[in-house]
Amino acid sequence: MEKVIQCPICGDIDHCFEDNQGDYSSFMCFKCGYMSDTRFNKEHDKEANQNTAVLINQIKKWDNDREIYWYPSVVNMGKLGMIFPNGDQNDWKWNFAKVKPVKEHTEATKGYDNFLDIDNADEYEKDDFISAIKDMGITKDLNNAKN
Ligand SMILES: [Zn+2]
Repeated sequence: MEKVIQCPICGDIDHCFEDNQGDYSSFMCFKCGYMSDTRFNKEHDKEANQNTAVLINQIKKWDNDREIYWYPSVVNMGKLGMIFPNGDQNDWKWNFAKVKPVKEHTEATKGYDNFLDIDNADEYEKDDFISAIKDMGITKDLNNAKN
């Protein structure tokens, strides 16, 4: 069951969803791009820490009401590309890197037709995750979530 909630991170009331799976709920805000889960408590965070990028750790947010951490999303959609936070904790933006065909092969690209062009990623403001998602072309899923 999915319902709209007020985002505890950015305060948006239209784009933040709670998806109840029975034993747990997951959360996703399409405005600020933060996501969470009722299982993301302090203990979970300690374990997850070891495998999480430094920036994600630095900009995660504590949700006092639910007693869980919210993390910025990393959306890897294969051929559609990847959306991730980039920068440092005081000045970061959403980046959308597209998958592009390899034109001139180097040692590193041998055997690959495409690569993720992180160096030329498009940038979006912190509160504009939704534009990155739209440009990626997965708004259809977002509209479904609203219904
Ligand atoms: Zn939000």
